[in-house]
Amino acid sequence: MNTAFTLLIVDDEKRNRSLLTELLQGDYRIILAKNGEQALERAREHHPDLILLDVLMPDRDGYAVIRELKNDDQTRDIPVIFVTALDSAGDEERGLELGAVDYISKPFNPAIVRVRIRNHLQSVQQRRLLEQLAMLDSLTGIPNRRRFTKVFEQEWRRGMRDGTPISLIVVDVDHFKAYNDTYGHAAGDEVLRLIARTLQDALRRPGDFVARYGGEEFVILLPGITSEGAMAPAEQARAGIEALDIPHAVSTVAARVTISQGGATCRPAEGNTEPDLFRLADSYLYVAKHAGRNRVAWAPTGACREAAAREEAP
Ligand code: GH3
Ligand code: MG
Ligand code: MG
Repeated sequence: MNTAFTLLIVDDEKRNRSLLTELLQGDYRIILAKNGEQALERAREHHPDLILLDVLMPDRDGYAVIRELKNDDQTRDIPVIFVTALDSAGDEERGLELGAVDYISKPFNPAIVRVRIRNHLQSVQQRRLLEQLAMLDSLTGIPNRRRFTKVFEQEWRRGMRDGTPISLIVVDVDHFKAYNDTYGHAAGDEVLRLIARTLQDALRRPGDFVARYGGEEFVILLPGITSEGAMAPAEQARAGIEALDIPHAVSTVAARVTISQGGATCRPAEGNTEPDLFRLADSYLYVAKHAGRNRVAWAPTGACREAAAREEAP
């Protein structure tokens, strides 16, 4: 199989650790722990793909270890297989109830242990693939709204912690209904793909993030950047779409496809939230539309605080 997977083997007896290592080291990267404390430490440090956990150990037994693993965000999702000499149905039930994915009794049959581990790792891989797919927009291949919501939350928390601002741009294609009506839905889809790629190309810094929010709307997140800094990528995105020079004969704005953008900057703090920033940027999208489209309209500095204050007012 594939040494890209890392297994953590936890057993207080050296003989058992050696047996399992010998059995599995050709297929996986192996990390060892000889007690519960080491197990927790190594699980957090190496984030293995699977843990083989002995139940009977001095100090912290396997049940205590799995409880702690499941209580910690960093280790909660790592599947655990109990490997143990206890083999009553009650022990097995207890292990599975605490969240183990499987239970292997000692003495074990090497071939069976191998297959079971391989099967569990296959599920791990499938789950990860599905998680990834669920976060991507199927039309354009860029992150979708779900992913955006997660990243927005994370960046907001980081902004709170570090006292840094966040800029958000809401992007909407101009007269896109008319485009579809004129050139057909398939051509419209292709335009959305091109726009997604062009918006991504307009971003420079590692934390910058673009997603398809839905329909013909996109969002650009620029963490750690004030309005002055954010206007450059916004203008670059606008100019980039214009430069694609996709004919749009029925647009009232230009002879080609264009976008409008609304932007705003907030300093995450007590009293304002991600939705405040989103609403503000979105309201400036309408300013851009009404001012003639194919442009960026930016909320003035301080507008975020005021918007949050208005929301709170009775
Ligand atoms: P405005 O300049 O005011 O934004 O006008 P508009 O026509 O772009 O706005 P409106 O919201 O009226 O229409 C949005 C259009 O976007 C309607 C819909 O058919 C099209 N659209 C939304 N999602 C998709 C998609 O996935 N593929 C295609 N081809 N079109 C889409
Ligand atoms: Mg729209
Ligand atoms: Mg539109």
